[in-house]
Amino acid sequence: MADRAPHVPVRCHALIPCAGSGSRAGTAGPKQYEPLLGRMLVQHTLDAFLRVPRIASVLVVVAPGDDRMPAGAGYQVVACGGATRAASVAGGLAELQRRGATGADWVLVHDAARCLVTPAQIDRLVDACTGDEVGGLLAQPLADTLKQEDGGRAAATVARQGKWLAQTPQMFRIGLLQRALAAAGDAVTDEASAVEALGLRPLLVPGSPQNFKVTWPDDFALARAVLEARR
Ligand code: C5P
Repeated sequence: MADRAPHVPVRCHALIPCAGSGSRAGTAGPKQYEPLLGRMLVQHTLDAFLRVPRIASVLVVVAPGDDRMPAGAGYQVVACGGATRAASVAGGLAELQRRGATGADWVLVHDAARCLVTPAQIDRLVDACTGDEVGGLLAQPLADTLKQEDGGRAAATVARQGKWLAQTPQMFRIGLLQRALAAAGDAVTDEASAVEALGLRPLLVPGSPQNFKVTWPDDFALARAVLEARR
């Protein structure tokens, strides 16, 4: 593979895009900074990655001028967020390479707002993807019946068989993901869709319903309840 440099050990990096505004969450500020059990939501997210020994580095991408993310042991913060998630991820990948990552290294891109991810789920994804030519993502088979809306009414039912909800982390080699995002443009909402657009087929690795993205106002209470139950 062109990205594979000989004699350089391949490493796994975590990239946490944290530059969104979270407009659907109904909070005054970005959802990733909301308090959750005495800490900011994103700090719970970081905890999971910091507890996986084979993650070589953790980079948090915040918006330019955003100083809410404190420096901490085991991770670094860079203010190179963009107008879209894809732009924030592309900026983070360039920064990882400036800091010594190679195109052959793996990157696990993970939403700051998925604060319930566990070290076991991260390990499961790494175990599944390290031997794979493409990479993959945590995902969850669709449980509910899916409706196509038209003006507030159900216009059609989309067969749920074979449909998965894409979660994160999504794990790809840095070089491949950079090429995929450059080709796909800023509109893609996850890394896998950019890789799929190259004609490749990322692995679907079963995640967990608990690895949901805090998105809606009710999600904060749910996330708090899960974190409390795990204590
Ligand atoms: O908006 P959404 O919930 O899909 O965002 C997913 C993740 O991408 C969040 O962690 C958010 O902070 C991040 N994001 C970003 N830069 C943007 C938009 C979203 O880093 N411009």
